[in-house]
Amino acid sequence: MVGRFVVIANQKGGVGKTTTAVNLAVALAQLTGPGSNLPILLIDLDPQGNATSGLTPPAELAGIRASGRSIYEAIIGRIMIADALRRIRESIFLLPSSSDLVGAEVELAAVEGREQRLKDILAPLRNQYSFILVDTPPSLGLLTLNAMVAADSILVPMQCEYYALEGLSALLGTISRVRKVLNPPLQIDGIVLTMFDARNRLSHEIARDVNQHFPDKLFQTVIPRNVRLSESPSHGLSVIEYDAKSAGAEAYRALADEVVQRAAGTPASSPEVSPEPGRRLWNLRALFSRETDRMRRSG
Ligand code: ADP
Ligand code: MG
Repeated sequence: MVGRFVVIANQKGGVGKTTTAVNLAVALAQLTGPGSNLPILLIDLDPQGNATSGLTPPAELAGIRASGRSIYEAIIGRIMIADALRRIRESIFLLPSSSDLVGAEVELAAVEGREQRLKDILAPLRNQYSFILVDTPPSLGLLTLNAMVAADSILVPMQCEYYALEGLSALLGTISRVRKVLNPPLQIDGIVLTMFDARNRLSHEIARDVNQHFPDKLFQTVIPRNVRLSESPSHGLSVIEYDAKSAGAEAYRALADEVVQRAAGTPASSPEVSPEPGRRLWNLRALFSRETDRMRRSG
């Protein structure tokens, strides 16, 4: 895979965008490297900077914030993008966020081609990475638009809660407008269900609903609610580094497999994951068949 550009977006906050961006980046890096040649690039386009802090040792954060070398300065043209790049793992590079990004929406407003800035500045770097992942802010503003214009595909994390589907229509509307005017080849990679709670009936209902509305868009991998996922960022670690055996780590590794398959054009039907005995399995088909069994038993 070369230069596959995936934007992680959902205009709602707190749905697992950043958690997905960070953990997918590390899981993909493990899949593709070190045997394979090209590293992963993670771009933190959210002024809150949670993807930046989520993979940075806490002691180094202040230094990054004070450096004046973030995606913000690169986007407005104050520095070269290469000067904002940080190598944060053996095969992961980060373009860190800055709280100044809040102002970028306004500062770019008068710039010609303002929705193409990210695409333009990344063009020379693109083929140096296998995957480029972008974490976006919880809005459909100019920053998210820039990500969609630059991207090959969109991955939509969706929390298993009421109204999850309603929010989706605004996002889909934006995507189809971007396709019409600015980036026709843009694809929807898929929707990934996050914070799934197997004991919660609602989680199952939402999974069923989304599957019904978007049968070919839903990732087979389901991300469970897992406390390790919420603990790891405060250590500056992905869950895969923090607790490799946790359900969260397993799920994001499975998601990475699926992302690679979809990027290669292999249909989503292929992850025929047979559960190892005694292993939790975060897979839609398994969840659905378990549920069907239960319903059959209870008549
Ligand atoms: P967003 O980027 O969409 O705002 P985050 O990824 O920051 O969402 O997630 C919101 C909160 O939920 C964070 O505190 C995160 O640690 C937590 N979280 C995300 N996914 C999970 C999960 N699968 N299990 C448990 N906690 C999660
Ligand atoms: Mg976030």
